[in-house]
Amino acid sequence: MTAVPTIGVLALQGDVREHTRALEAAGARALNVRRPDELERVDGIVLPGGESTTMWRLARSFEMLEPLRKRIEAGLPAYGSCAGMIMLADRIRDGVAGQETVGGIDMTVRRNAFGRQVDSFESAVELTGMGDAPYHAVFIRAPWVESVGEAVEVLGRTESGPSAGRIVAVRQGRLIATAFHPELTGDFRVHHYFADLVRRATEEE
Ligand code: GLN
Repeated sequence: MTAVPTIGVLALQGDVREHTRALEAAGARALNVRRPDELERVDGIVLPGGESTTMWRLARSFEMLEPLRKRIEAGLPAYGSCAGMIMLADRIRDGVAGQETVGGIDMTVRRNAFGRQVDSFESAVELTGMGDAPYHAVFIRAPWVESVGEAVEVLGRTESGPSAGRIVAVRQGRLIATAFHPELTGDFRVHHYFADLVRRATEEE
């Protein structure tokens, strides 16, 4: 049993530091992950917000794409926020030519879905399993989830903003993803939820 899980943050690009801080606030040990051997040392992994095209290119040149796919397939818990959500999607729309993902969640995600001119906005989101108070969610050139397969549980939808009612938080088994950035606000309920998920997964093993 691991009382304090070690959770990696894929540290190729994006808001790595903010996730590290949020994970530590949620009672986990955070570790930057850039190489396959570092990936071997973690009980879970966060794919941060940033730019999914850059993250994909860097993951490919650091030879991290395949190791990530393999470990996630083998049951490694993962949480992707924004660009990280795109990375965890089995299918993407409006990607650049040839853009690949790590995949794992049976969903189609549209990049920059809320419109190019809408750089950022905020919306309340009620998140299943994360307390009663609506989450104050910050979206930055965010994707949305266009469709999900049967195994995917929808955890939250936008309640206001440019396109209310869009799916912006999902879970499939040990994988979760949000289109927004809980690492940028002081409310770390999503990181607590993920840290608990990782803790339970390590206990099962
Ligand atoms: N638009 C970015 C992408 O396509 C995601 C933005 C973000 O992570 N804040 O990767």
